[in-house]
Amino acid sequence: MSSITGNMLLGAQAVRGQAGEMRAFAPALGKDIEPSFGLGGKAEVARACDLAAQAFDAFRAAPHETRAKLLEAIAERILGIGDELIERAQLESALPKARLEGERGRTVGQLRLFASLVRDGRWCGAVLDSALPDRKPLPRSDLRAQRIGLGPVAVFGASNFPLAFSVAGGDTASALAAGCPVVVKAHLAHPGTSELVGRAIQQAVADVGLPEGVFSLIFGAGNETGEALVAHPAIKAVGFTGSRRGGLALAHVAAQRAEPIPVYAEMSSINPMFVLPAALAARGEALATAFVDSLTLGVGQFCTNPGLVLAIDSPELDRFVLSASAALAGKPSQSMLTAGIASAYGEAVAARKTAPGVEQLAEGTQTDAHCAALPLLFKTNAEQFLAQHALSDEIFGPTSIVVACRDEAELVRVAEHLEGQLTATLHIDREDYAMAARLLPVLERKAGRILANGFPTGVEVSYAMVHGGPFPATSDARTTSVGAMAIERFLRPVCYQDLPAELLPVALQDDNPLALWRLRDGELVRK
Ligand code: NAP
Repeated sequence: MSSITGNMLLGAQAVRGQAGEMRAFAPALGKDIEPSFGLGGKAEVARACDLAAQAFDAFRAAPHETRAKLLEAIAERILGIGDELIERAQLESALPKARLEGERGRTVGQLRLFASLVRDGRWCGAVLDSALPDRKPLPRSDLRAQRIGLGPVAVFGASNFPLAFSVAGGDTASALAAGCPVVVKAHLAHPGTSELVGRAIQQAVADVGLPEGVFSLIFGAGNETGEALVAHPAIKAVGFTGSRRGGLALAHVAAQRAEPIPVYAEMSSINPMFVLPAALAARGEALATAFVDSLTLGVGQFCTNPGLVLAIDSPELDRFVLSASAALAGKPSQSMLTAGIASAYGEAVAARKTAPGVEQLAEGTQTDAHCAALPLLFKTNAEQFLAQHALSDEIFGPTSIVVACRDEAELVRVAEHLEGQLTATLHIDREDYAMAARLLPVLERKAGRILANGFPTGVEVSYAMVHGGPFPATSDARTTSVGAMAIERFLRPVCYQDLPAELLPVALQDDNPLALWRLRDGELVRK
């Protein structure tokens, strides 16, 4: 018996939206499923944002330990939902059970990582510059700085990770870790999953005794609801994962506000994979099979999907292409996340099939799955790739294009032509290092993560991970949406000049009561 009610969560309340209703669509079944969800509009957005604004000062003033406990309580509450969460997410996304169980583990691990980060306290960025009263010609004041949360954050969950990039995903976890209340606009591809996870967060907020406005969840009737959320004066930053069009639309709304705010949108990337000559000769066939596995994983619905393969034209590349084509032919068509994503995929690959100078190398095995994507592999040459901008566009799904370059110079030219990317991959052996060294400065300008001899799908949640990159991979190349550094997006520095000791924030007090690592007169010390 499902516990899903179809209600939004406005602080501690469960509220039925009155602006319309919808049911979740089960892509693998090709039909709507119960229950119905009440959709909200501007009034519910305003209520959630007002509650968030009211909660902000109390939330950020709460001990770091309480914030860490909140993140851990969310993780426990999510695990406590049990099979219902996985079953519902499976119905709503058509993703396999094992994948969703792995994603739940990742979500919980991510929340715990941010809990330990909060306890560690380095995110505070505590800096103390002692006063220099005798300095000539002018004395220096006592200066101390710490970082505080920006304020309430609007989060737009992604369709392709209903757990790890959605209601309790990396954006929410890092914003809460920074001390920012969160208002999530649920992705309507998985409203039931969103409600279950939202309730887990709502309960965790109560468990640790924080104000109710620390978290709200909205089901929106149309784009206007998301726009109203971004436009609300209480919102101070936005986290988004989805399409380039959606991310840019919300960035535009944010820029038009009386008070513009940052939008951290992760949007579009084709993740070029460079297969250099020695690696291609040594293990081209094995690379081809592994590449097709990475390409078709999760029906290709990864932001890090390898949508572009670059290599120098040669008999070894021909062998790579043959092996990849054979491997792809064995991959079945499978249900995508939503009917809309499946039809967008169908239209995009149809256009690619008729693009000048593009050859279809192989297609997967047709099945009778609903809302399905058929894996497809294409090939072209560098000249065509450079001439047709559409060949650089992301096609969300299990398709990739191999670009044959005449020589090293042309390979570098194609690299220079690329837009910003989440990842760039080099397959290299020692004899390839000189060519790789020529590509690296270009790839550093283009991508957030550079891999050697691996595949970009699979993004570790850790301290060094960067899941970001220049536009259009993201709207702000200075940040990451995965890993510990994601917290930086929602913090800002505040400096205190000559404040009396009694009024100083606890992180900056002389005796260092939180035992933080602090930059004291230029030296990193724990005192
Ligand atoms: P989407 O259409 O960008 O939607 C993502 C979220 O943004 C939804 O909650 C949507 O809400 C909201 N939104 C979109 N446009 C908006 C607008 N103009 N104003 C206000 N809110 C807006 O992404 P999607 O539905 O997940 O997938 C569609 C496409 O996105 C895919 O085909 C793929 O190309 C891309 N995608 C990329 C990634 C990635 O990781 N880079 C991940 C998933 C999808 P409403 O529409 O309900 O208002």
